[in-house]
Amino acid sequence: MVRLSGALFALLAVAACAQPAPPAAADRAADPLPGTRLSTDELKAQMFHVSAGKRLKGPWPNGARVAVGLSFDVDNATAALSVGNLDYEVLSRGEYGAVDGLPRLLRMLDRQQVPASFFIPAASAVLHPAMITHIQASTLGHEIGVHGWIHERLPLLNNEQEEQRLLDLSIETLTKMTGKRPVGYRAPSWKFSKWTMAQVKAAGFLYDSSLMASDDAYEILLDGQPTGIVELPIERILDDAPYFGGNADGSMPSVSDVYEVFQSEFDVAYDEGGLYLLTMHPHMIGHRSRAAMLERLVQYMKRKPGVWFATHEQIARHVQPLIGSH
Ligand SMILES: [Zn+2]
Repeated sequence: MVRLSGALFALLAVAACAQPAPPAAADRAADPLPGTRLSTDELKAQMFHVSAGKRLKGPWPNGARVAVGLSFDVDNATAALSVGNLDYEVLSRGEYGAVDGLPRLLRMLDRQQVPASFFIPAASAVLHPAMITHIQASTLGHEIGVHGWIHERLPLLNNEQEEQRLLDLSIETLTKMTGKRPVGYRAPSWKFSKWTMAQVKAAGFLYDSSLMASDDAYEILLDGQPTGIVELPIERILDDAPYFGGNADGSMPSVSDVYEVFQSEFDVAYDEGGLYLLTMHPHMIGHRSRAAMLERLVQYMKRKPGVWFATHEQIARHVQPLIGSH
């Protein structure tokens, strides 16, 4: 059983950003409905440990109708390495992100002249340092943000001191490699531990992009208190991994189906004057037909008037003043 659950964790970790947390199956079997015995105060403490505060919505610069933030989580093989999965079918699939995926996407961004944000596990950058050089060689001002040390799942790590050490190491490593301290944080697999938000706040990040309580940016509350940190919300619908990664393993029959979902979400964001963020992975969407689909989507968005393509940092800096005084 121990070996089986180890293998299960490894499989789940390979699925990277889009899969549910590894289930604490034994705990849940022993006590399947703990929430039923909690007082409303206890429920509030759980529900609102990390929650949505003030909504931070436009207007966007220069009268733009919508803000578009393209983000790429450059996980490559780190999720597998973090759990000791040395299956080279899996590792080489991740390596594809560094070898072909990222370069193809960077060429596409250059062709379309749109900037992007790259959230990079620091170990991923150390293993393929040319990725940093390549991203920074663009004149588009791409952003590089923190995405853990080795894509460690923080609830699985379950250790406050070790989590702090890995966060510090990630910031220090990326700062040295890029020449700039990152201002954006995205948790590996979007999973916070109970300590993550406090550590992210103490580290002085401008924004986080791991939560999904709204379509629009909002201020994060920690135990009900304003943090001053901007949340740029993500969504599984707007992530390539559920379609192309993990258990899908390339089984999605048509990239056009994914295009339709992504475009429909953009159309409503445009009508609502909102925010449109995509989370993608070079080792997934960097493949030929998928990168071509993404380019078609960018071209579609560019044909509409008033679309502001920006890095997550630019969007966060634009909405941050809306936090104002409390
Ligand atoms: Zn990731």
